[in-house]
Amino acid sequence: MLNCKHVAHKASDYVDENMSGWQKFWMVIHLFICANCRRFVNHVRVTRDFMSKRPSQQASNSEVSEVMRAINESDQNKQP
Ligand SMILES: [Zn+2]
Repeated sequence: MLNCKHVAHKASDYVDENMSGWQKFWMVIHLFICANCRRFVNHVRVTRDFMSKRPSQQASNSEVSEVMRAINESDQNKQP
């Protein structure tokens, strides 16, 4: 039987469905009897869903080019 500490460590694997059959079985049993871990796993799931739906924070190639052009222009305009 899993304890709460073990469930907390494995919560993201469970949410990602990255568990073997028996691990998942014991996880489900524990979540059935333990409201605290159910709440914790739900929180992990909500957080994971939110993070996956966020727009990408990476700059596009055109944004990078625009910034590099601005840097080069400011270097050329510098007085010696
Ligand atoms: Zn628990």
